[in-house]
Amino acid sequence: MKSAVPLRLALALAPLAMSASAFAQTMDFDKVAIITEQMAPNLYILSGSAGLDPSHDDAAGGRIGVLAGPDGILMVDAQYAQLSDKVLAAIRRISAGPIRFLVNTHIHRDHTAGNAAFARMGAVIFAREELRDGMLRIAKSPNAAGNPLADPAALPVVTYGMGPPVSIHLDGETVDLIPVRAAHTGGDTMIRFANADVIMIGDFYRNYGYPFIDTNNGGSLKGMLEALDYTMKLSGPDTRLVPGHGTIIKRDDIVPYRDMISATTEKVRGLIAQGRTLDQVLAAKVTASYDAKLAGSTSASSDRFVAEMYEELKGK
Ligand SMILES: [Zn+2]
Repeated sequence: MKSAVPLRLALALAPLAMSASAFAQTMDFDKVAIITEQMAPNLYILSGSAGLDPSHDDAAGGRIGVLAGPDGILMVDAQYAQLSDKVLAAIRRISAGPIRFLVNTHIHRDHTAGNAAFARMGAVIFAREELRDGMLRIAKSPNAAGNPLADPAALPVVTYGMGPPVSIHLDGETVDLIPVRAAHTGGDTMIRFANADVIMIGDFYRNYGYPFIDTNNGGSLKGMLEALDYTMKLSGPDTRLVPGHGTIIKRDDIVPYRDMISATTEKVRGLIAQGRTLDQVLAAKVTASYDAKLAGSTSASSDRFVAEMYEELKGK
């Protein structure tokens, strides 16, 4: 019985493990268009077009932020490596200035695989120490060949831990790199544009499919709940919160999301207390009351979320 649990978890997590590599490789990057949305006079968000990325049908890859002005360009995240030319073309429609800084919200390749291309253009990459360590681990793994995250140029040059935010003053904007305790991954950062009143929050909030706690990369349920509380504390009522995927939200939109995670946590905790196995917990369909309301909800996305939650709660 004991060996069945990790196997079942492995199966539940399999679609996700593939989402970063196998899925991305099978998607048709030629068809992806980069859509630009202006958030403030000098701040833009770039997204890949919908219906092409099997990992996130709503938009291909993770959102990119572009702060542009007389001091040059700061980017948040760098998309899939296959889209670097299109991303650069979209940036050039905004500004001809030098791309000076690139900040990563977290390690996933739909946010970081373009790092090397932009570093070669002169961008200095900022990220959490944990993110850099994760890339070094990938570079040492037996199947590192061809992985854009294993390219030494992809590595962050400036790293930081859980201390106070790192602030970058550029183009009349104050950009705060705010570290988040292990949430979606172990190396998450929120990026706040103080004057624009915009925070790019990465993937610890997700309104397309169920939350993803990437425990293989150091993520945790506890940290995800903490990060959501922290985001609500940092935000005013009109602050625009830009997740890596899904729709742009405001502070109050976090409340039902956090409540869903808390309620699901309590259900799973109760089933664990009754001695239920992972298979039994998954069969109990504890997210059923949310499935119809949640865009991008699939049973694979629910099972992955519940399995990660089960493992973390069971471990305590
Ligand atoms: Zn992610």
